[in-house]
Amino acid sequence: MNNRLIIFFALFVVRLSVLGQNNFVSNFFVKIDPERIVLNFDFDCELECEKGTRFRLRISFGNGEWEDRSTEAYSQIGDRIQPGKGKKIILEHRNQISNAESRQSCDSLVVSLLIENGPTVELKHMLEHINVEQVRSKVFSIVGNRYYKDTEGLKNLNATRKILSKSFGEKNFTLFRDTFNYRNRCTGQNYVAIKNGINDNRRVIIISAHYDTVYETPGADDNASGVAALLTLIECIASQEFNSSIMLVAFDMEEQGLVGSAHFINEYLQKKSMDVIGVINLDMIGYFNSKPGSQSLPDEFKESFPQASAKVIKNRHRGDFIVLTANENSLSVQHKFEETAVTFVPDLNLIAYAVPDNGEKYPESRNSDHATFWDNGYKAISIGDGGDTRNRNYHQKSDTVDKLNFEQMAKVVKSVLAYIGVVAEPTGYREFSTKAYVGIGH
Ligand SMILES: [Zn+2]
Repeated sequence: MNNRLIIFFALFVVRLSVLGQNNFVSNFFVKIDPERIVLNFDFDCELECEKGTRFRLRISFGNGEWEDRSTEAYSQIGDRIQPGKGKKIILEHRNQISNAESRQSCDSLVVSLLIENGPTVELKHMLEHINVEQVRSKVFSIVGNRYYKDTEGLKNLNATRKILSKSFGEKNFTLFRDTFNYRNRCTGQNYVAIKNGINDNRRVIIISAHYDTVYETPGADDNASGVAALLTLIECIASQEFNSSIMLVAFDMEEQGLVGSAHFINEYLQKKSMDVIGVINLDMIGYFNSKPGSQSLPDEFKESFPQASAKVIKNRHRGDFIVLTANENSLSVQHKFEETAVTFVPDLNLIAYAVPDNGEKYPESRNSDHATFWDNGYKAISIGDGGDTRNRNYHQKSDTVDKLNFEQMAKVVKSVLAYIGVVAEPTGYREFSTKAYVGIGH
């Protein structure tokens, strides 16, 4: 290295601020050479492991897309790395990091060090983390009219967005805000949290729920319950890395005609070359009633779906189960979900049915964002408590927290976590430095 290079190195020393609960990796710095091709990472690692640990490196230029660069990096990368101070990883960037990238958006160069240091966490241990109080507190933090046209609604919408932004942006997730203009009246905002898969980050499962309400309803069941599930799931999977990617999406403007999900799919999802394995949409997952007769069964449903109806009748019309709605194209997702729920949450009652095509003949089956996925050829199922066939408070001022059954709701969240675990597969990797934004000269 010549003197000129050293000076440039000094000028381009950038500091990685490492967030999270990581105590193993410290003093993590990045240096970029004057040609802006070589990235040098320095860090101390106190991780004790008999056979040494395995390191992998991935980087992102702030667009939410990660590139695993382990095979191109050298020095302390790969298998059997021993702990110690002054560890180095050197990475030659494929192309010169452009001026724009380094000057304007070096701030958004995110580097993530993946360390495999432990056995894969068992799914049943992950499930034990979900508790009723956690789910309840999330619902309480969101509940209240979230209708875009009035002052109170807007205030609550913004408070919810703040919660989503904080939760989705922390703890090893990449936050993306998908905004859109709604009839020149307001800006709709979908919140997307992405956890990139370790082995196949193009393979993704999506869990979604809308957070807006209709006029003057507190929307506890519809749909603070679904959003509370997203917030709980984030906490449960935050410190765990998975083989496949997981995307959690909170939709805006569902109540205005599935507007948020349409924008998300058309303007975001379809532009990414992702292999979407399955979509689980959560809308109204908190209202249960174990009294016989509390679940109504519309005649049209009885005629069209005799098997599911027979179960409701046998259950003496008790509204104590969760409904899994699929279309023909999504049967594989429905079966997988049912299978994992039965295995891991055996005391959750569920009844599944599937509509032909995209459910055009059964408008009731299309009443949430899963229908937008169906219409665009994605495999999606809806999970809900039966809506207005059970919950008389649907779209009323009486859709309040005191009507919800948090014990049952926690079981529903568990079933979703079980699906995530089985399909995305937890690994023994821990991610130690995501959200590590690089700023020149700090
Ligand atoms: Zn809803």
